Amino acid sequence: MSSLTRHLIAAGIAAFLLYPSYVSPSPARPAVVRDIRHWTNEEYTRVVIDLEGEAKYEANFLPADPVRKLPARIFIDIEKATLRDEIIRHPREVRNGLLTRVRAGRFRAGVVRVVIDLERESGYRAFDLSNPSRIIVDVEGRSEARNRPVLPDAPGKIVVMIDPGHGGKDPGATGPTGLREKDVVLAIGRMVRQKLSRLPGFDVRMTRDSDVFIPLEERTGMANETNADIFVSLHINASRNRKARGVSTYVLSRASDKEALVLAARENGVSVKKLSEVRFIIDDLSLYGRKKESLKLAKTVNDTIVRNIKRRHGPVHNLGLKQAPFYVLVGARMTAVLVETSFISNRSEEKRLRRRSYLETIADSVVEAIRYYGENGALARAG
Ligand SMILES: [Zn+2]
Repeated sequence: MSSLTRHLIAAGIAAFLLYPSYVSPSPARPAVVRDIRHWTNEEYTRVVIDLEGEAKYEANFLPADPVRKLPARIFIDIEKATLRDEIIRHPREVRNGLLTRVRAGRFRAGVVRVVIDLERESGYRAFDLSNPSRIIVDVEGRSEARNRPVLPDAPGKIVVMIDPGHGGKDPGATGPTGLREKDVVLAIGRMVRQKLSRLPGFDVRMTRDSDVFIPLEERTGMANETNADIFVSLHINASRNRKARGVSTYVLSRASDKEALVLAARENGVSVKKLSEVRFIIDDLSLYGRKKESLKLAKTVNDTIVRNIKRRHGPVHNLGLKQAPFYVLVGARMTAVLVETSFISNRSEEKRLRRRSYLETIADSVVEAIRYYGENGALARAG
């Protein structure tokens, strides 16, 4: 068993409640803490520590110390690491009722300590993602996390976060005649926003509505920060097998088959080998999302897309509902799905994807599915 595997097992669900240590694998070379970023609301904060190089780290919880007037805190020790003075001088002020600030310093020779000062006792999960290397700490008010309603109580609007994949320096997959995934999904995303916003009861946001690069964990952070009820990540599939075609919709879990694992590795920007190593943490983290609800929405989205394409554009291959460890879904606190509509690598599907009417069909279908899911929300609340 590798040290990474042990680390991931240690980061189990009980860990969330019992504040254990998270220990990461040994580094290949010294790391530099480049930046600390965060997304936050009054019951959730995602802290991201950006690293240059892989790092061995350990996360721990310390209860408040009334004698020394110290608040409860989470600290992350990063070994064989250094950091910029700029980060030491400028702690990240948060003050959201959950935590006050995130600060960092040189704890002892070669060890950087990042401290999250808590305003009240909270649960946390720490995990790392690679390429680029970063440590992610999700802090949650303990009871609230489990008692959040699936959909807002009437008459509140259902907040939908639409996430067009890729963007900026990351084009996503490219078709045989040069069509780029990032452009197609942005076009679909804008259509979804326009159509869904017309319906009463929906508040639609987008992680991006221009050609910009946004890291995967930031997209999830944005959805959590805005307390979105539904998160839909839009992608176009691709394969080395030019004949591969069809529509599939995913929820976060271990890969349901080899193709799903290869696809998730590509979407995450990591190797299949690297991704295979994180399966344990995916098992744990998917428990914090709304797996059952996500499966329900994913099936509705997939069925609707397939039905509408068939009706308006002709034959379509239904690859169905699948599961895979997509980074962009890790830590999502709401109903969250990832859609892979058609293969840009397939000549005839790329041709379809160049047609506005085809993209309208996909957008109509996503809207129809979200609407159906929203209208049946009363059932979900009761269940
Ligand atoms: Zn993609």
